[in-house]
Amino acid sequence: MIQRMIIHAYLLTMTDDQGGLIMDGAVAMEGNEIVAVGTTEQLQANYQAKEEIDARGKVVMPGLVDAHIHTSMALYRGVAQDMHHWLQKGVGPFFGNITTAEAVIGSRLNIVEGIKAGTTTFSDFDNPMNLIAENYRQAGVRARMTSTVNALPPTLHKLGVGELYPLDEGIEQTKLKEAVTLLEEWHGKENGRLTVMMGPQGPDMVSKEMLQEIKKLAQHYKTKIHMHVAQGDREINQVIKRYGVRTIPWLDEIGYLDQQLIAIHLTEAYDEEAALLANRGASMIHCPGSIGVIDGIVPPVMAFLDAGGTAGLGSDNAPGNNCNNIFNEMKAAAVYNKIKAKDPTVMTAYKVIRMATIEGAKAIGLDHETGSLEPGKKADMIIINMKEPNLSPVILKPVCNIIPNLVYSGRGHEVETVIVDGRKIMEHRKVLTLNEEKVVNEAQEAATKLAERVATLL
Ligand SMILES: [Zn+2]
Repeated sequence: MIQRMIIHAYLLTMTDDQGGLIMDGAVAMEGNEIVAVGTTEQLQANYQAKEEIDARGKVVMPGLVDAHIHTSMALYRGVAQDMHHWLQKGVGPFFGNITTAEAVIGSRLNIVEGIKAGTTTFSDFDNPMNLIAENYRQAGVRARMTSTVNALPPTLHKLGVGELYPLDEGIEQTKLKEAVTLLEEWHGKENGRLTVMMGPQGPDMVSKEMLQEIKKLAQHYKTKIHMHVAQGDREINQVIKRYGVRTIPWLDEIGYLDQQLIAIHLTEAYDEEAALLANRGASMIHCPGSIGVIDGIVPPVMAFLDAGGTAGLGSDNAPGNNCNNIFNEMKAAAVYNKIKAKDPTVMTAYKVIRMATIEGAKAIGLDHETGSLEPGKKADMIIINMKEPNLSPVILKPVCNIIPNLVYSGRGHEVETVIVDGRKIMEHRKVLTLNEEKVVNEAQEAATKLAERVATLL
């Protein structure tokens, strides 16, 4: 007898470019793994389960992959909207003055928000990740954690716009140590549910020597490098001032463009630079919501995909995007790119739902474990109620409306159940691993204190 079987679902396996739909589908799991996927009839003939979940009228699909998120920034959600110089003048004072305890509290808020919108894998790029890691252990989600390395003093917001920022060697060395400690202590923990990558915050935010040191370490630990690349005209100006060339050609010169690199944003990359990244085998994370709000730009993800690259989706951060919800990113990716191309046939719902699942998993090097429903993969999946008014009715023929409705009308509140690594972490919309009310109240209290402190600095 196996542990659990979900039956009678609209099963989206994500094993083909049409979503891999199995009508009256079923999935069987044991421990933290998927053991079988097929029709309800096939699985019931072969398995008996201790727990059987009837998912009639519901979609069962792989949990969503948020391939780039800064969870601590949830504590200052919405403080820097509709403005220029977002980083330096908007979030800078908050980013530079948040305490480690406050960062951990903010992170929990983002994790609960993500779980409630069906995110099961969080590729978190933050500090203090060695403490945030404990949130992930408790929350029960899959996490790909990167302790951000930069050399930036906390007084960045006091510099003039366009001034070359000072890079502090002491700060970058301390942060590098934290990143290595995180790798040593957390990589592979919780039965492999928690893994660690290396990550300079951006090519402009650490020294060239530090970039090279991180590359060596990532090779030594056989892990990936998570880094913002061409994330704004600000970054490109800094790189030109320091090295005399734009970011992407410069990274190519120093041997940074390869399969190890996960390039975040590409906000200001030219199409041919995005194509070069794809050709070199680097992956890209597209964060349309945050880059739309922060910069008013749609990054060249189409050029990157056309060149054969692998791209995932990220929610980035709450002071940019306001929400950390991959349903929001799927819709934004599809709609913004159609508008940019003036063509409704590009960036289809089918393409973006793959970016939110299997392609995102591949982009961060986790596709052997998650992102699709297949025997042998980890049991990471969500159950979505298609009887919510905004996802109803379901039409199967002559046109199947399930994936278009999930992408263009899904908001996340339709996710009823979340299973990660074979464990239910949300049921009937109640998060089982963290106390939602406590998380929200603690975040309110901490945010009030942080904002009061920041107000005295400005
Ligand atoms: Zn980011």
